[in-house]
Amino acid sequence: MMAHSKALLVLENFIGGKFVPCSSYIDSYNPSTGDVYCRVPDSGKEEVEAAVKAAKDAFPTWSSKSPLERSQILNKLADLIEYDLEAFAQAESKDQGKTITFARTVDIPRAVYNFRFFASSILHCMTECTEMATVGCMHYTLRAPVGVAGLISPWNLPLYLLTWKIAPAIACGNTVVAKPSEMTSVTAWMMCKLLEKAGVPHGVVNVVFGTGAKAGEALVCHPDVPLISFTGSTLTAQRITEKSAPHCKRLSLELGGKNPAIIFDDADLSQCIPTTLRSSFANQGEICLCTSRIFVQRGIYSEFLKRFVSEAKKWNTGNPSDPTVDVGALISKEHLEKVRGYVKKAQAEGARVLCGEGVDSLALPTGNQKGYFMLPTVIAEVKDESCCMQEEIFGPVTCVVAFDTEEEVIERANSVKYGLAATVWSSNVGRVHRVARRLQSGLVWTNCWLIRDLNLPFGGMKASGIGREGAKDSYEFFTEVKTITIKH
Ligand code: NAD
Repeated sequence: MMAHSKALLVLENFIGGKFVPCSSYIDSYNPSTGDVYCRVPDSGKEEVEAAVKAAKDAFPTWSSKSPLERSQILNKLADLIEYDLEAFAQAESKDQGKTITFARTVDIPRAVYNFRFFASSILHCMTECTEMATVGCMHYTLRAPVGVAGLISPWNLPLYLLTWKIAPAIACGNTVVAKPSEMTSVTAWMMCKLLEKAGVPHGVVNVVFGTGAKAGEALVCHPDVPLISFTGSTLTAQRITEKSAPHCKRLSLELGGKNPAIIFDDADLSQCIPTTLRSSFANQGEICLCTSRIFVQRGIYSEFLKRFVSEAKKWNTGNPSDPTVDVGALISKEHLEKVRGYVKKAQAEGARVLCGEGVDSLALPTGNQKGYFMLPTVIAEVKDESCCMQEEIFGPVTCVVAFDTEEEVIERANSVKYGLAATVWSSNVGRVHRVARRLQSGLVWTNCWLIRDLNLPFGGMKASGIGREGAKDSYEFFTEVKTITIKH
């Protein structure tokens, strides 16, 4: 780290095992105070070029290591991050605005687990073999790492999502150039400090910081980066698809959602209400899997709404470093304004805001007056065609509407461009299976939310993405398959 200014944290790119200063920097804000507290390299083509070269140079040695050798290094890295868990959690909370509790219990433990998971799963990968006895042939497949992987991640779950890409990429024997979001770069930079101690050879993991338009696009357009794994917005994914098309790159795209919760009148509300509050407001609603359209069967609509709103009002919004706080700050001033704008539009269209933004007052501690805070907001009587029911808001805002029949709610739930995650609440097992099967959604949670087995595919349909991530899916994405036929 170079000290450009005493007060500010100044990050450097990590290329070929070394921290390298950049010629220009961008400001990064602490969302809970509104102050600039960090400077992030404003990398472009030159820095990306150096990082890709380092990754290319490291590829032959790294890709020829055995899965066991790579696995041991991934496990060591997991141990080192876990040892510093508290420092990572504090940094993630400060950089992103999320509560310290969420960073401590979700973000950083999951980053650790991502490395442990792929350290283990890479040891159990098998290829295929078939026999054609009538023509005296057997066929088998081989899988080999692809090369330099470009990894681009968003700001909502910074280290969690970046390591969800780095771990499988390097476990499979690729080398990587990673670009975290320019708004949340600190924990990636902290991780770089541990790579050497973990035994990750120089050049295997390179991290280039900067904006999407400059650093991200330079990575996407680089001819020596044959695959791009991207998590972020659908709009950016469209741009990445266009820019990478001339190179025919392999793309994995994990994008936005407009996720429904469907609550039938036989649901156990004592489980459903607290879980739906979490699925709507956890991490300030800034999770691609968050619920933002709640369909409640008419018979329990009034009761649900009353109980849901009264519980939402109990969510404590404020200083993210206070362990009693449930809702921290949103990522940026612009994002806060955008999320508020949706509430205003809903009001203008005649919807009712039952709690939160514009209805309840928010008292903030002195140091947080300029932070980007917003109360959990519940909106009712919103029309299905309203932008609040169609577009991803990505903040602590959820819409509640009534429905009558199973057939009707499936159609309404599917009537958006997205298809990432859905939840279904009912005690009727047959109905749960019927509805889950017909929802256009890559993930369906029934009577629960966000319980994940990393072995299984994760990803969205329609505008929510292309490809899946998981033990088998990530292995397939990060390796190239070859079919060999032996005539005997
Ligand atoms: P974003 O698309 O603005 O940015 C994501 C990343 O892409 C950042 O690192 C950004 O710098 C980079 N980027 C931007 N423009 C680029 C370009 N032209 N070329 C290359 N890279 C570019 O998304 P965001 O605002 O950071 O994140 C929020 C979005 O991410 C939401 O839509 C959310 O639903 C989605 N998300 C999806 C998942 C999932 O798994 N499906 C998980 C988390 C977040």
